[in-house]
Amino acid sequence: MSGDSEEKTFEQNIESMSGLSAAQMKAKIKELDGQCICNMCPSFMGTGEEKLTFCMIGRSSIIKEENGCICPGCPVQSDLALRWDYYCTKGSGRQLSKK
Ligand code: SF4
Ligand code: SF4
Repeated sequence: MSGDSEEKTFEQNIESMSGLSAAQMKAKIKELDGQCICNMCPSFMGTGEEKLTFCMIGRSSIIKEENGCICPGCPVQSDLALRWDYYCTKGSGRQLSKK
């Protein structure tokens, strides 16, 4: 599965998740939380934020300052063919894809 996802666009990867139930999507995001590196990011550290995977869940209600973003080095970014950064302040990949 991860082999062919590398060639798909982010939009195609999201489309292929559209059949997931709410519970399955929750499980998927939990799985991605294990790969997310946000908690090592300078914009995240020290803010008290506990959520992760903003590329899927959208903006943080806590992180307001952009002090560097390490998303470009994250395995989730490459696996899903995400192409943005600062999801915690700008919104999810799905939201940014529509801009
Ligand atoms: S791309 Fe960024 S927000 Fe998404 S999982 Fe990776 S580090 Fe977290
Ligand atoms: S989305 Fe980017 S800037 Fe925001 S916490 Fe994650 S790595 Fe840091």
